[in-house]
Amino acid sequence: MDEVAACPACGIDVPTPEGVVVGEILVCAHCGAEIEVISLAPILLEFFEEEEK
Ligand SMILES: [Zn+2]
Repeated sequence: MDEVAACPACGIDVPTPEGVVVGEILVCAHCGAEIEVISLAPILLEFFEEEEK
């Protein structure tokens, strides 16, 4: 069963894949925000600040 964590942008529950690790970047399917896993227990998500391209 996938765990979920609230998207920091829109607040919807984002499913996190099994075996997810801290630092992994997920994309919210609802708002498209790139969000970084910052904690696993509990799972916490934060905006991913992209480095300058
Ligand atoms: Zn979102």
